[in-house]
Amino acid sequence: MAVTRTDLPELAELQQLHEIGAPQLERRLLCEVTAGAQRWPVHAYLLGHPGPDVPAVGFFGGVHGLERIGAEVVIAYLRSLVMRLRWDETLHQLLERIRLVFMPLVNPGGLQRGTRANPNGVDLMRNAPVDSNERVPYLIGGQRLSAALPWYRGPAGAAMECESAALCDLVRTELLTRPFSIAVDCHSGFGFHDRLWFPFAHTARPFDRLAEVHALCEMLDQTLLHHRYVVEPQSRQYRAHGDLWDHLVLSADAQSSGVFLPLTLEMGSWLWVKKNPRQMFSRQGIFNPMIEHRQQRVLRRHVAWLDFVTRAAASHRRWLPEGADRQRHRDAALARWYTA
Ligand SMILES: [Zn+2]
Repeated sequence: MAVTRTDLPELAELQQLHEIGAPQLERRLLCEVTAGAQRWPVHAYLLGHPGPDVPAVGFFGGVHGLERIGAEVVIAYLRSLVMRLRWDETLHQLLERIRLVFMPLVNPGGLQRGTRANPNGVDLMRNAPVDSNERVPYLIGGQRLSAALPWYRGPAGAAMECESAALCDLVRTELLTRPFSIAVDCHSGFGFHDRLWFPFAHTARPFDRLAEVHALCEMLDQTLLHHRYVVEPQSRQYRAHGDLWDHLVLSADAQSSGVFLPLTLEMGSWLWVKKNPRQMFSRQGIFNPMIEHRQQRVLRRHVAWLDFVTRAAASHRRWLPEGADRQRHRDAALARWYTA
């Protein structure tokens, strides 16, 4: 009989937020991950209007268990919303017009064990049934050689892992059913810069919603002054098999006529390591800021961006480009991101 682990500090914090935020904050059990004698719940937390005609934003963290700061950014934003429920009239007005969905700990088993993969050794961000036909970096792009090696996709032809299947189900029911939605997936560990990646990961071909991403990016530049994000398609850095967001974009095209924009935040942790080289010798340290003031600064910066995303989604009718304007954005995006 597996014992449910609730001793992760992130799970304890979410339990507390759930109690403070009830009844407006709904909690939904998506699946339970078991490994040997241990078991972890995977929850979604839902706020705002449940109707299908409002836009939605989904916030995802902890897909890679080692990248703890990703889960913490999502939890920090959820905490700030829950605390504002008590007094912020403008938040209540906003929640009449938007659905917000949080899945802060996609991979609790990996988080507890300090591994990128889930307890089965599968890298959830390589687990979708999407194969790249282009040049993919060896191992990093996803491999089916062995669960003992990183970036393992899972056995060929197998069903998706329960964590990745739960994420996809949540996106299909809560985001793809709506006229407009954005997904934000928070990671860390790649490079010196904070990056915002949009699809595709499996191909250098542009995705259909390039004009919309470009319009959002232009607003980000004009609104979030002096931000440090490098916005680009993931394929500009490397290509990969099995990306969950590529998989969902491809199924969104088949399922709905709504606009779905998945964004991956890759916090540039090499900068933290440069400022504190001793972190190099700790596996946690390469993926997470270790000094408290640095962690607070990281959380503060990215929470401001998450709030920008929420407001942009709520107001999508004011800025989504159409007609000639859409063509202008698409041309500008092609020139910016898809010329050698
Ligand atoms: Zn990651």
